[in-house]
Amino acid sequence: MSPAAPTRPRRLLRTLREVLAQKAGAQARLDRVVQLVGKNMIADVCSIYVLRTDNLLELSATLGLNANAVHNARLQVGEGLVGTVAESARPLNLSDAPTHPKFAYLPETGEDPYKSFLGVPVLRGGRPRGVLVVQNATLRQYAEEDVEALETVAMVVAEMLAATEFHEMRAGEDGEGRPDLPLSVKGKSLSPGMATGSAVLHEPRVRITKLIADDVDREVVRLDDAISSMRQSIDQTLGNDDPLLAGTPLEVLETYRMFANDRGWVSRLREAVLSGLTAEAAVERVQNDTRAKMLRHRDKYLRERFSDLDDLANRLLRHLTGKAGAAGDTPGKIVLFARHIGPADLLDYDRERLAGLVVEEGTAASHVAIVASALNIPMVSGLPDIEDQIVAGDKVIVDAGSAEVHIRPQADLLRAFDTKLNLSEKRRARYEAARDLPCETADGTQIDLMMNAGLVFDLPHLRETGADGIGLFRTELQFMVSQTFPRLNAQTELYSEVLDAADTYPVTFRTLDLGGDKVLPYLEAAEEENPSMGWRALRIALDRPGLLRYQIRAMLAAAEGRELRLMFPMVAEVDEFVRARQLVDLEADLRLSRGRKLPANIKVGCMLEVPSLAWQLDALLPKVDFLSIGTNDLMQFLFAADRGNPRVAERYDFLSPPVLSFMRHVVECAKPHNVPVTVCGEAAGRPLEAMALLGMGIRSLSVPAASVAPVKLMVRSLQLNQLTGFIGPLLGQSGHSLRLELEDFARSGQIASSE
Ligand code: PEP
Ligand code: MG
Repeated sequence: MSPAAPTRPRRLLRTLREVLAQKAGAQARLDRVVQLVGKNMIADVCSIYVLRTDNLLELSATLGLNANAVHNARLQVGEGLVGTVAESARPLNLSDAPTHPKFAYLPETGEDPYKSFLGVPVLRGGRPRGVLVVQNATLRQYAEEDVEALETVAMVVAEMLAATEFHEMRAGEDGEGRPDLPLSVKGKSLSPGMATGSAVLHEPRVRITKLIADDVDREVVRLDDAISSMRQSIDQTLGNDDPLLAGTPLEVLETYRMFANDRGWVSRLREAVLSGLTAEAAVERVQNDTRAKMLRHRDKYLRERFSDLDDLANRLLRHLTGKAGAAGDTPGKIVLFARHIGPADLLDYDRERLAGLVVEEGTAASHVAIVASALNIPMVSGLPDIEDQIVAGDKVIVDAGSAEVHIRPQADLLRAFDTKLNLSEKRRARYEAARDLPCETADGTQIDLMMNAGLVFDLPHLRETGADGIGLFRTELQFMVSQTFPRLNAQTELYSEVLDAADTYPVTFRTLDLGGDKVLPYLEAAEEENPSMGWRALRIALDRPGLLRYQIRAMLAAAEGRELRLMFPMVAEVDEFVRARQLVDLEADLRLSRGRKLPANIKVGCMLEVPSLAWQLDALLPKVDFLSIGTNDLMQFLFAADRGNPRVAERYDFLSPPVLSFMRHVVECAKPHNVPVTVCGEAAGRPLEAMALLGMGIRSLSVPAASVAPVKLMVRSLQLNQLTGFIGPLLGQSGHSLRLELEDFARSGQIASSE
């Protein structure tokens, strides 16, 4: 093909360029595209079908079919000829379409007089986003040139769909893809471990702003230059003696070199430029074909080679656009997101800062996974379009253990993961030493020391820390990391798993504490001015009892034949507790009436985190099996200081007369009723604070997993009788805090009170 002779595709592209240059809405542009293509290809029909988020292909523009069918006619992927093109991601060229076994007649389109059919997939990132079709009434065999021309147009359409209102429309349909919501996704784990960090996009999708060449000859030169500079840089890297590149990665670079010099690949790129595309668009066009092939192939080896080729195309794009993919200014640890990444590119990143890797596609046998494992970088793959869901700088948690990636996690989740990270890193050795020692003060008082949990990955910590059980299982965390509302079975399974893991140790499940800062990505939350004092936790549960009953039902089923301990969050008055407990009785009766077995015993507790409840204890205590004081919320309500607002959250001290007096009041009230009181919440996990709680008469604590050992070491070094004598008189003081006095006490008694 000579650059001098304008071919049909080139003419078509030239006219399309004018369409793209016009300021018009997405619909008007699509309408114009079908008209132009229909005319250029002398087709009776030209139509564009767009793939919606619900996986239906919707007729979105047409020349020749019934105009009323636009946005009304829909097909499943795999249904009819159009659906087949989308499913296979390959062109379908038929001179006598009605005889094809997949032919399906859509009456609303009025398409029955059309014999011949040519459909090509509209691909982006190798994935179908729609289908572009031409049809003729006569028996016509479309030429190879027609297929190529239509494929080139499809590429332009793909960019149009991605860039404009269509994208917004799709993202808005169900909230999917909104860049502000927390998102948790599950893929495949390719290298173990976990990490948190800020997202960095590896080679952020190079937005090809210009698809159609102004000057084809110039584009040919640009392409040739880029190919030769890429070859040079590969040769250079191969010449380097980086020990990390030794062995397998070197093999990969050799593969790159082979592909970079592959005549077939280079000539396909040139042909695409000669058809009228810019050099960048030509690379993307060829890359699209490669990706479609890659997705189709079952053979692992071939898929991996295609993925190497794809990586090479990315490099070429970078040489063309001059854009390097680097961590740039992102501070601290980074989690790298990539559609595809080669091992050599991975090694370009600072190994000290690269904490995790998330790729859209990849296999355990891919070289990048091997390198990631060798470097101890947790890696998760199998997350199509993940790059589209993320903005550089977003906070991310990669948990390769469960193959999950949490994007923009909420504070609670981050806290939970921080705990896990801390646990796995510097403190492990200390914990191990303390694990099997009894939790008993130096003067012989037994303390119940349990841990807080909320996710399946927390469960092994029970053994690792030697905690006496799970004193607070925050059930909402599992809801927060789930993509959809967990169904009854899924909930039952989770609670069973928790009880199995705990074995003979007690587990206290807390029913859903939603609202406040805990929102579910899939539930519409009403805007509230003060969400933490708003419609949350038990308030939601009592207003929408279905939700709570469902959860109780799952807990009863999971605990069949064993002990079930559950408690309600944010109880503000006795009546709320009574109503919630009635739901437990109701569900238990229902279960019995269905001939099912109940737990061996059911203990129902109440969280004390709203101060009003402290003044109804005599009415409340006869009705509860246990109390659990939630210090996080209690502090914010006691001092009217938002726990999430750093300006005020630290303003008031837990080790102050009002807080400690409050604790003593609760302990004193509970004693005659014989109701056990536990303190959960973060403060109980800080050794000095835990010490003060023991001084107030608390004998049971539930703390973050990472705090179990430090608190235990404090307990074991404490002369409790001395502390009780020391702390009592301090409560009458008028100062802001008793911290200094308690620190002095700990120091002089050589109490292990530091974290
Ligand atoms: C608390 O409020 O102290 C508590 C344990 O619950 P959460 O932190 O989940 O609100
Ligand atoms: Mg709370």
